[in-house]
Amino acid sequence: MSAEPLLEELLIKRSQQKKKTSPLNYKERLFVLTKSTLSYYDRRSEKRFRKGLIELNRIKCVEIVKNGGIVIPCQYKYPFQVVYDNSTLYVFAPSQDSRSQWVQSLKDEIKENSTVVAKFHPHFWQEGAWLCCRQVEKMAPGCEEYKLFGDISRKPLPPIPGEERRRPAPPAPVPPSSDPPPLPPQQPQQETVVALYDFPGAEPHDLSLKKGEEYIIVEKCDVNWYKARNKYGEEGYIPSNYVTEKKCGNLEQFVWYSKQVNRNKAEALLREEDKEGAFIVRDSSTAGAYTVSVYAKCLGDGGSAIKHYHIKETSGSPKQYYLAEKHLFSNIPDLIEYHKHNAAGLVARLRYSVGKQDTSAPSTAGFSYEKWEINPSELTFMKELGCGQFGQVRLGKWRAQHKVAIKAIREGAMYEEDFIEEAKVMMRLSHPRLVQLYGVCSQQRPIYIVTEFMEMGCLLNVLRQKRGSQTKDMLLSAALDVCQGMEYLEKNRFIHRDLAARNCLVNDSMVVKVSDFGMTRYVLDDQYTSSSGAKFPVKWSPPEVFSFSKYSSKSDVWSFGVLMWEVFTEGRMPFEQNSNHEVVSMVMKGHRLYRPKLASETIYGIMQKCWHERPDKRPSFKELVSKISAVLEGDVPPTP
Ligand code: ADP
Repeated sequence: MSAEPLLEELLIKRSQQKKKTSPLNYKERLFVLTKSTLSYYDRRSEKRFRKGLIELNRIKCVEIVKNGGIVIPCQYKYPFQVVYDNSTLYVFAPSQDSRSQWVQSLKDEIKENSTVVAKFHPHFWQEGAWLCCRQVEKMAPGCEEYKLFGDISRKPLPPIPGEERRRPAPPAPVPPSSDPPPLPPQQPQQETVVALYDFPGAEPHDLSLKKGEEYIIVEKCDVNWYKARNKYGEEGYIPSNYVTEKKCGNLEQFVWYSKQVNRNKAEALLREEDKEGAFIVRDSSTAGAYTVSVYAKCLGDGGSAIKHYHIKETSGSPKQYYLAEKHLFSNIPDLIEYHKHNAAGLVARLRYSVGKQDTSAPSTAGFSYEKWEINPSELTFMKELGCGQFGQVRLGKWRAQHKVAIKAIREGAMYEEDFIEEAKVMMRLSHPRLVQLYGVCSQQRPIYIVTEFMEMGCLLNVLRQKRGSQTKDMLLSAALDVCQGMEYLEKNRFIHRDLAARNCLVNDSMVVKVSDFGMTRYVLDDQYTSSSGAKFPVKWSPPEVFSFSKYSSKSDVWSFGVLMWEVFTEGRMPFEQNSNHEVVSMVMKGHRLYRPKLASETIYGIMQKCWHERPDKRPSFKELVSKISAVLEGDVPPTP
């Protein structure tokens, strides 16, 4: 190498997508910074193969990337960006300190560049848009002022009087003593959490959780996995969705509060319990507001009733809360406690909380932290569940007790290598309305894909089997479930590409979850992947997809409209009388699916919005969730 390295470290580099449709990938590279270049190498064994080189005088901006809560799909979680010419290189460092050192050192070396930008994009460019400002032009001017001095992840380093250019630093990780004095280590506030469910711990590096007990968070390694410490000082990994922060105002600590329960699900739970004063506290359709749903078994006429009360807030400061006007409380737990003893205007006093204790623990993002390879000898096979594009799906058990679905991939059906890489990203997608990917057995043929087991099978069959017996609210609740899963994918910039009732699954609590997201990219079958192929989902596709293969979250929105139509026709085939070819020309001419009998004008109006010819005029999933929940809560008067 010609020049002495200032910094050298193994970091992860995100691919610089050439084609919009090719999936992003993340590769470990040895990065080397010298006085004139930033290079990265593929380091196989002891040899180095240079994969790229950037001359420092071409760099316009170096800064950390804020991730805005999206899942970082690789093992290193501290991203920074290097903007040069017309490209942005995204690099992921293993720790905040490592990132800070790279950003500061690079900034130091580029401070005399004439091309340093005035504004930059603080978030990622992903799937055709800047996540910070939503501009869809890659060359769009930055949306935040760029400060060459000071890393936005930390306070700016104090200037050193008389310091000219910094002397070359020795290779990382030890900072040179001639560097500006390091900032005192930031003492992160200790966060205490309470376990919502038992977690037995699958691997020796896991920490078992006991419902109701407290733990200290040592490190948030991932959005899905934290390192925690128990009261005996033992440390290990825990799933983040099994705990909740112990702090005032966090209702999740209480058994009577259930986050993911809509009006329809609350009514079903209360009816099933069938006890006077059964109640549940849940999120209202208005963000940040809560509703108390109460069951009264013995009304005067011998019948039962369910009432839903919004928890109201006073406008003054400090805020006070009430259900029945005269009884004000400074917080919600006190209000609930009071109404446990006094009906005070409610249809019954709050006697039995229903919900959390009756629901089983949610899925975890994989069986343990960073574990995506499953040992096939730990799987046992049971009955066949179905057969799909990739092969046979069977019910099975992992380590003899955890029910799972196992898909054995038929030879020649999938781009297996690409999928196995992507599986690591998909496993990190974790939401109560997505069918969880637990891992893969990739060291054998056929490979297995192991996912959450959904007792009732695919939504399309459930709709058909239950035809005539589901209320409109049940149908709307199914659509809302799917919409919530899709809202999470949209937030994480993940496109489904084949959303339809056949690709959603139902569990034994009748919760619907989105499955097979992103999987069409790995299908090896022209009939399925080419828009003129017989298996291409034309009837679920918007014009920009069947004409130009332009996929986006907004093309998923179109498909969601068709899925709503499938739900409200209880599983009919869209455009039943027409061939794919006919549907293309009908849709291009503006023709749309008719209003199903069970869909009110309001609901049909929502479907129609999803089928706007222009993708940018379609609502987002976020907007759809709030619209559909408002209809379900009765906040929007149903039109006949
Ligand atoms: P492919 O992705 O190969 O097309 P599918 O995911 O459509 O396969 O699965 C085929 C069928 O197997 C589904 O229609 C469903 O009946 C059943 N199935 C698939 N995954 C599960 C699961 N996780 N739980 C229960 N049944 C499943």
